[in-house]
Amino acid sequence: MAHKYSPRQVEKKWQRRWADDRIYEVTENSERQKFYALTMFPYTSGDLHIGHWYAMAPSDTYARFKRMQGYNVLHPMGFDAFGLPAENAAISHGIHPHGWTMRNIENMRKQLRSIGAIYDWSREIVTCLPDYYKWTQWFFLKLYHAGLAYRGEATVNWCPRCQTVLANEQVVGEGSCERCGTLVTKKALKQWFLQITRYAEELLDHSRLDWPQHINMMQRNWIGKSEGAEISFGLEHKGLEQKEIRVFTTRPDTVFGVTFFLLAPEHPLVPQLTTSEHKTEVNEYVARCQQQTEYERLALGREKTGVFLGNYVTNRLNGEQVPIWITDYVLPTYGTGAVMAVPAHDERDFEFARKFNLPVQTVIAPTGWSGDGLKEAYTEPGTMVNSGQFTGLPSNQGYEAICTLLEETGWGKRSVIYRLRDWLISRQRYWGAPIPVTYCDRCGTVPVPEKDLPVLLPPDAEFKPTGESPLKHCSAFVNTTCPQCSGPARRETDTMDTFMCSSWYFLRYTSPRTEHAPFDYAKLKYWLPVDLYTGGAEHAVMHLFYARFFIKALKDMGLVHFDEPFTRLFNQGTIVYHGDKMSKSRGNVIAPDEYVAELGADAVRGYLMFIGPWELGGEWNDNGIVGISRWLNRVWSLVTTDYASRAVAARDEKECFHVVHKTIKKVTADLERFRFNTMLASLMELTNYLSKARETGTVSGSVWRDAIDRFLLLLAPAAPHLAEELWAQTGHPYSIHNQPWPHYDQELAKEEEVTLVIQINGRLRDKVLVPASISEAEAKELALGRERVKAYIDGKKVNNVIYVPNRVVNIVVA
Ligand SMILES: [Zn+2]
Ligand SMILES: [Zn+2]
Repeated sequence: MAHKYSPRQVEKKWQRRWADDRIYEVTENSERQKFYALTMFPYTSGDLHIGHWYAMAPSDTYARFKRMQGYNVLHPMGFDAFGLPAENAAISHGIHPHGWTMRNIENMRKQLRSIGAIYDWSREIVTCLPDYYKWTQWFFLKLYHAGLAYRGEATVNWCPRCQTVLANEQVVGEGSCERCGTLVTKKALKQWFLQITRYAEELLDHSRLDWPQHINMMQRNWIGKSEGAEISFGLEHKGLEQKEIRVFTTRPDTVFGVTFFLLAPEHPLVPQLTTSEHKTEVNEYVARCQQQTEYERLALGREKTGVFLGNYVTNRLNGEQVPIWITDYVLPTYGTGAVMAVPAHDERDFEFARKFNLPVQTVIAPTGWSGDGLKEAYTEPGTMVNSGQFTGLPSNQGYEAICTLLEETGWGKRSVIYRLRDWLISRQRYWGAPIPVTYCDRCGTVPVPEKDLPVLLPPDAEFKPTGESPLKHCSAFVNTTCPQCSGPARRETDTMDTFMCSSWYFLRYTSPRTEHAPFDYAKLKYWLPVDLYTGGAEHAVMHLFYARFFIKALKDMGLVHFDEPFTRLFNQGTIVYHGDKMSKSRGNVIAPDEYVAELGADAVRGYLMFIGPWELGGEWNDNGIVGISRWLNRVWSLVTTDYASRAVAARDEKECFHVVHKTIKKVTADLERFRFNTMLASLMELTNYLSKARETGTVSGSVWRDAIDRFLLLLAPAAPHLAEELWAQTGHPYSIHNQPWPHYDQELAKEEEVTLVIQINGRLRDKVLVPASISEAEAKELALGRERVKAYIDGKKVNNVIYVPNRVVNIVVA
């Protein structure tokens, strides 16, 4: 009965059937425990490339596994559809971004269906459609009314090529635009911000999250918390009302070592504090700094530059007059934009002092200090010297004592600062959700009332890349009436950062057609938080960070019941081709569609999972996918060729059970840990075993059928089409995907065990029970890790380790 395996036919057939039967649609009315498995939704670039498949096929396999384990699994899909590429395409091809995006979505939807995933398409969302962005605007209003959205003048990162503002996170490498690589410049604009800084402390806490450590670390570094003190320096300058400048320092214990004072060139006091003879030089320097990127300014090892203003501040602790300089390594946005310079104990200040011949005063002595000048900055703790009443104290005690003095005298206080800045959400672009705000000459800034949402994008805007939002030139959009006084008013013409859209999309999936609210609360309460979120690590300080903030803010407003959106996070690696990351510009992009057409979706899914551990990614290789395809063909003939038992042997039947149950145990454990590659290796071994068993025919027909059934169930998450087809062909009722995950019998799965003797220089030192299948490497590692063995070889050099399979490990030490 064995006919040829035609993946194309098989896959088309089952995809149609699954869609017709709505087999993967889920509801909240289930006895089963919920599991929300979310994959980052794709940007509507037009084509599903192999990177998308690598994000989606393994996560679908996992979601299918959870489903078979008995969970009520929500595994939705949608489109991140606003953003710059659509608008750029519109400009260069004369296509409307809406048309471009919707056409791309249509194509991608077709491609996504070819993966054979369990996406519940009835829940699809598209962020650029009014029924979605209405709620993005609604959330903006909520944030505004909660005091978390504000408008402020800001120097922003500006890409002269894309003609738009970029968030700090979008400035990459040596200060270039993430999208086009152009060097980013600065520009002052009135912008809308979300006050993410208010959540800095909460965002530092990942303790309740099962997330990769390096992502947590990146987020913590991004927040950049520093503890220290704020210290006031006296200003006595004629004609200046301000009598002090405050600085933040992490080292209040070094305050007696301040020998100069630094301001950011942009600091508002610079013009007033500059004396006339220094004016020209200062102005030139300030102008030069405006051309530099922040990255350049902060680069390590860069020659220090700066200019003296001709003026002084007073160090209140010792009454000394300290000269004020400006330098580009002080940023206006970090701390107060002013720094007390302590060259003896700060590397950059030390270099600066050297360059400009400024004094260096040691105030923290290293152990055994001779009293000579330091050759380099000493940044460690030590004993305080030259520090008035604090001299002689260990610096950590001095730190506390000085803070206390500052607080008693009113000269300062203990303080914490964060590098994190507020989230700039204004974009001077067309293709985004309009910011729902109007400006009225009489009433000022007036938010659009909720009942008037959505503020629709006008379909007829011109796409001139002028550096201003195209909406500005669309008078029908701009001119409106004030919601408060009904007088003439103007609409805000900037649109929102698309990260606003993606900060809440996972809420919308729970009730995507709800019209009166962004979500149906009962449904949201059932599904959220997301149990497993998978996607690329490149989102660490953007999407993943913003979404956390967003949800925390919603929680505080009482809109949701949880404050962390993604309980568990997993980042997949990258698929490379000929050693390079795939990209259109390199021309090394693998188009999955061709492979799907030729070898089938199951082969592409299987191959991507087989390439290596999911978090590491790997190298695409055409021979590799052919190997997987061959294996699937072998599975096909293994299952579809009639089995004939001959001389049935009890021993062989027992072994068959053992192998099957051992495989169930292994595959289950591998899936739990996202070890898709070793899972597939186990299934291949089982295929080999069963192929041999068929040749010998020494197990009964029922044992054979039982083995094949379990094998197909194990195969179902990874190769859903083939497993479904073979399930049907072996006479089982539809559908294999509604079957429970196979259990294994602990006794049957148990490995035969042997006693391994551990010798040191030929003498018996330890014994251990191990599975008979233990490899040489595993046996050696195990032996060397034993406590008793470690005690014997402690401090000695291991010259050799000899392994006699399943019997002895002999460790030879000097
Ligand atoms: Zn750019
Ligand atoms: Zn008004």
